[in-house]
Amino acid sequence: MKSQISQAIILHHTDYGEADRIVTFLTPDHGRLKGFARAARKSRKRFGAALEPFAEVKLHWAARSSGDLISLRDAELVTLRSGLRRDLETLTLAGYGCELTEVLFDESGVGVEVFQLLQAFLDHLDGEGYSVEARLLMEIRTLSLAGYVPHLQHCADCFGPLPSGPVSFSAAADGSLCPACDGGRATLKVDRMTLGTFGKILQTPLTSFTGFRLSSQSRLEGQALLNDALQRHLHRPLKTLKFLNRFSPQETIEKSS
Ligand SMILES: [Zn+2]
Repeated sequence: MKSQISQAIILHHTDYGEADRIVTFLTPDHGRLKGFARAARKSRKRFGAALEPFAEVKLHWAARSSGDLISLRDAELVTLRSGLRRDLETLTLAGYGCELTEVLFDESGVGVEVFQLLQAFLDHLDGEGYSVEARLLMEIRTLSLAGYVPHLQHCADCFGPLPSGPVSFSAAADGSLCPACDGGRATLKVDRMTLGTFGKILQTPLTSFTGFRLSSQSRLEGQALLNDALQRHLHRPLKTLKFLNRFSPQETIEKSS
């Protein structure tokens, strides 16, 4: 069995048997992997706190000839990101980012950019704590990397221009709709300014989370449209989402009938 060393972010773990642990982690070069850490709960020497969720580690592992579980040999802690545990909001948002990444990307679809995005998101929350902006940036960039970002600044049907003011939006129609194409399909009205703001966000570097301040209207409308867009592409409900929504603006904007 060939021994490998990889940078990794721990996504989550489950206890197995008396003392073992199964760990799911994300790497820049090998995507998402699942590993078996023998006696991880008994012997603190080999793994210590390095297998805790959100930790960044240097993992030593060996591929198995069959089955999908690899064998974890050793983990060197790079950072535990203990700032994520400062409050429940921050901790929940960090968990949401990990779950979103895990559900939207299967093993084969994870590239280095997905790793860099999650790494920057967790580092930002570790230093700055929870913000609605951080959540929205993570959501739209994750959608973008998955190839699911909706059409924002032109009509999703005819690719024509959009009016100023409130614009029809439908996740099922894959984005904004001009009045001629709407045909009663819109599920949301989103201001043209909000669509412009999120269009601009997509032009910013993937790993930049600092210095974004959105108006309360953009936060509410952005949350509603990203929520609809994400629901369309998630193949299972996210466990962290219900909890996270306690801290986020709810869909209080008017839904068009
Ligand atoms: Zn149109």
